[in-house]
Amino acid sequence: MRFFLLRLCAIFWAASCAIEAYADAPVVTPAPVRFILTFDDGPDGREKDNPTASILATLAENPTQKDIKAIFFVQTRSSEGGATACGQALLGREHAQGHVLALHDGSTLGHPNHCKLSDAVLEQSLNDGLADLMTIAGRPTTLLRPPYWAYNERTLATYARHGLAVLLTDISANDGKVWGYHGSPRRRSHMASEMAHVKERMQRSEIPGADGATPIVVTFHDTNDYTAEHMQEYLHMLVDEARRAGLTLAARPFYDDGATLERAALIRAHDVAHRADMVPAQWRWLYWLFG
Ligand SMILES: [Zn+2]
Repeated sequence: MRFFLLRLCAIFWAASCAIEAYADAPVVTPAPVRFILTFDDGPDGREKDNPTASILATLAENPTQKDIKAIFFVQTRSSEGGATACGQALLGREHAQGHVLALHDGSTLGHPNHCKLSDAVLEQSLNDGLADLMTIAGRPTTLLRPPYWAYNERTLATYARHGLAVLLTDISANDGKVWGYHGSPRRRSHMASEMAHVKERMQRSEIPGADGATPIVVTFHDTNDYTAEHMQEYLHMLVDEARRAGLTLAARPFYDDGATLERAALIRAHDVAHRADMVPAQWRWLYWLFG
């Protein structure tokens, strides 16, 4: 009996020490959130009511934060965008306004899945796209996002040979054209659920910091009229839903200079251990189902 009581005391003593040690342990609070806004598939080539031009105007002037800088993952030779006179002018405007130009695709094939291109065609697409962007920006491009979020060892090795880091996303606005509709009636509840998922990953320390902030990547499509019409609402919604999720935001929640934005994007792109988590959920399911 005496032995049992001694053991019980020892257990209580050990437990109280553990509780004290836990109470003294530093609480790791993630750095405040900043949003890396990204836009895919552009620029749009329409002369009138151009959604890319509208989005550029909203980023510069809106009630949430003025002069926001974004990353545009562009298709430099698309017959409906980058290859048109209007598209070329918009690429120049994106660069001149301090946004970051990055590559989506440099071919004339529309929106090809790079995993299905031959080595030679993929190589040509990257060579052409990077040359196009060098002409506009006057410096090498550092970031790429593959169409359909599709990548494999072969395409990753090809991108790396061209000095390109692959940036996927934390939050997808689900506003892409590929689903055949332009509306997003559940945009608020969808954003709330994406933000909750981001919070879980931050709590598991899965999102690296950059320059004193936690950079969260958000994806839209600047070729989408609906996105352009709702851009102000989307900016407000991101801030609002982050606060509702209990996340701390930086004083300026959106990046406002291209160099800091690109540095943060590269840190996220080089975090290859979490790359697969940055494919939007519905695409992960599609690849799981159909390979
Ligand atoms: Zn795309």
